[in-house]
Amino acid sequence: MPDSGPLLIVGTGLAGYNLAREFRKLDSQRELIMVTADDGRSYSKPLLSTGFAKGKQADELAMQDAATMAGQLDARILTHSQVREIDPQARKLLMHEGELSYGDLVLACGAHARPLPLSGDMHERVLSINDLNDYAQFRHTLEGRKRVAIIGAGLIGSEFANDLALGGLEVQVIAPDDQLMPGLIPAQVAGPVQAALEELGVRFHLGRSVAAVHQAGDALSLELDDGSRLEADQVLSAIGLLANTALASDAGLLCGRGIQVDRFLRTSDPHIYALGDCAEVTGMQLMYVMPLMAGARALAKTLSGQPTEVSYPVMPVMVKTPACPLVVSPPVTTSEGLWTVEGEGQDIRALFHDAKGTLHGYALTGAVVSEKLQLNRQLPAWLG
Ligand SMILES: Cc1cc2nc3c(=O)[nH]c(=O)nc-3n(C[C@H](O)[C@H](O)[C@H](O)COP(=O)(O)OP(=O)(O)OC[C@H]3O[C@@H](n4cnc5c(N)ncnc54)[C@H](O)[C@@H]3O)c2cc1C
Repeated sequence: MPDSGPLLIVGTGLAGYNLAREFRKLDSQRELIMVTADDGRSYSKPLLSTGFAKGKQADELAMQDAATMAGQLDARILTHSQVREIDPQARKLLMHEGELSYGDLVLACGAHARPLPLSGDMHERVLSINDLNDYAQFRHTLEGRKRVAIIGAGLIGSEFANDLALGGLEVQVIAPDDQLMPGLIPAQVAGPVQAALEELGVRFHLGRSVAAVHQAGDALSLELDDGSRLEADQVLSAIGLLANTALASDAGLLCGRGIQVDRFLRTSDPHIYALGDCAEVTGMQLMYVMPLMAGARALAKTLSGQPTEVSYPVMPVMVKTPACPLVVSPPVTTSEGLWTVEGEGQDIRALFHDAKGTLHGYALTGAVVSEKLQLNRQLPAWLG
């Protein structure tokens, strides 16, 4: 049962703010405090990888500032406040500015860019985009320049390649695998996406990694593992995210790839919960918007006195590569099975079946993207 002390949420990303909204629909009385290391502006993170083509500055992507959000949510929001430690026994958070007591604590503290082991005198010029400030900094350093090298060809790297190319930039992508989005889609599906991006002018260096970044006059020189070099004005690293687990693990909470929680989103401490990119829900790490929204709805009920397990329906991901539309429902319900692929040109249908012939996932490109609703009906719920 929820405790009567304040509800404290660490993080004002989509997880923190969605939970606060859902909670206020059910409980208008309990004291709500939110703490964030950033400026607390509310924004939709998926728009960061479609903003260049639309010519959007970071400020134009921000929807509300922290003060407006505090008013709407009847909450106290502490911005630019980095939580340094959790004391679960005393039920306190420790920050530079002092400490805060809680009745229940929700960690919605997100993830950080996976560090890239690079040598060279300019490796600190390699940026990642995982929040509004990163986006603003990247745009700022690119002003008046045109050439971008993206390291990584996963979902986010591919989306940025499409968006930056549409925004008029010269884009090169370097990645160690020999296809785009390995681990998410089969090579026959990645092929048309790569071809469409090449049509836009993106140049790929697949099967290669970047060893070092050096200064080359006003520009940067990237040294690849085969000794070849390429030049760029700015380097964007998109090699994946790691859940922010340090606060939780230092406090003795169980962590794996994320902060481990059960279907009530409860950690190994009965008064601490986790939601969003930082959480690993019954072993599943799903760093997408729909799972955190389902989690926010369930957790809001639990925190207002109706213990509710989270359920995940099928939640396909629309990859934002408009050069070649792509929708993927990854086979999260089993890893045992095989892809079968059919179609030609841009219109590819890949289906993932287990040994009994049950459909567990799909990837669709081009015109066949429209089949997703019909396929969704055949898939088992991700967490029933
Ligand atoms: C470029 C990009 C495009 C994406 N596109 C899509 C998409 O199209 N569809 C989709 O489903 N998903 C997409 N995603 C993923 C999705 O946006 C994320 O899963 C989601 O936004 C994560 O929200 P979050 O609140 O968990 O984390 P975050 O947004 O990272 O928020 C974390 C919060 O915690 C705070 N914080 C962290 N540590 C501390 C601390 N110690 N003390 C105080 N505060 C702290 C931060 O300041 C921040 O407020 C995309 C991600 C990226 C990067």
